[in-house]
Amino acid sequence: MKMKLVWDDYIKPAKLFGNLYFIGIRAVCTHLIDTGDGLIIIDPGYSESLYIIINNIWELGFRPADIKYIVVSHAHHDHMDSVGELAAMTGAKTFIGKDDLPLLTGETFQYPIKPFEPDVLLEDGDVIALGNTEILCVATPGHTDGTMSFFFDVTDGKTSYRAGMFGGAGTNTLTREFLKEHNLPFENRQKFVDSIHKIKKEKVELFLGNHLTDNHTREKLPMLGKSTVNPFIANSREEWESFLNKRLLHLRQMIEQEPSE
Ligand SMILES: [Zn+2]
Repeated sequence: MKMKLVWDDYIKPAKLFGNLYFIGIRAVCTHLIDTGDGLIIIDPGYSESLYIIINNIWELGFRPADIKYIVVSHAHHDHMDSVGELAAMTGAKTFIGKDDLPLLTGETFQYPIKPFEPDVLLEDGDVIALGNTEILCVATPGHTDGTMSFFFDVTDGKTSYRAGMFGGAGTNTLTREFLKEHNLPFENRQKFVDSIHKIKKEKVELFLGNHLTDNHTREKLPMLGKSTVNPFIANSREEWESFLNKRLLHLRQMIEQEPSE
């Protein structure tokens, strides 16, 4: 999806809990973690909306110059086209799943992207540590080969919750047309299923979206601070499981509905 009017995509940034903030736009999630020793940005998003992300960082009282790490869920334009620019501005270190390197280098092609040179290629089980934060990176191939899911504790100084994000929930890259067009193996579908089963076991007390519809970010943001219930935490465990189950169901239905060849 190419955005034309990015300013229409603006959403007011917000603290989700403790040291975790939503700074994304309508089309895609961007999150900021204040580690106490610098900032981590997860998926800075499109190039066209980078100025909104920068604005949001200032608006929350942080300085873009304090960004130390930029972590990318997978090598599709909507999550990472701005990484190169943001890294150049801030000197931040960049992280992405090792198996998405061919997409970054152009060795394989799915969507047009603005490549960047990653500093760290993540492998399954790697931990990204900065300040008070340790992000567990779990390889969840399927949507792309190198899709990474992230799990980490967030804290307000008194209470901690385990945040979790499935780094690539879309079945758009698993349709028969897409697989054939891009010469991808049909086993990617089984990898997607296996990835979901793998992360379903993770304890998730604060379910983060990769896209806003995953965890109903847009509906939840206006509810923040309206009561003692934090909408991002309230039913997270159940929502996480039901979201993952729905992705499995969605894939199964998609395959069932494919016309026979
Ligand atoms: Zn994607």
